[in-house]
Amino acid sequence: MLPLDPQADPGRRAWVACPSCDDARGCAPCEERRSCSAHWRYLLTNTGSLLHLQCPSCTHVWVHESGFGATRSLWSRVTSGRAAGR
Ligand SMILES: [Zn+2]
Ligand SMILES: [Zn+2]
Repeated sequence: MLPLDPQADPGRRAWVACPSCDDARGCAPCEERRSCSAHWRYLLTNTGSLLHLQCPSCTHVWVHESGFGATRSLWSRVTSGRAAGR
């Protein structure tokens, strides 16, 4: 088991399934993708749409591609493309 990252802060949480322990399996709020009070991950840092997460149950650390940043940059490309076409 890894120690908890010094940046782990219970005030910054992310609701992403842990690829290591799968502790949210069979949990109703998690399967409905709601904010479960039992199953959440520490959000250590985020770089654009990449989230660095740590699981409080098994202390696994991984990077999750949220896709939010990609969506926003695609949207800005679409909107700036329209403006340039005028
Ligand atoms: Zn885990
Ligand atoms: Zn849950």
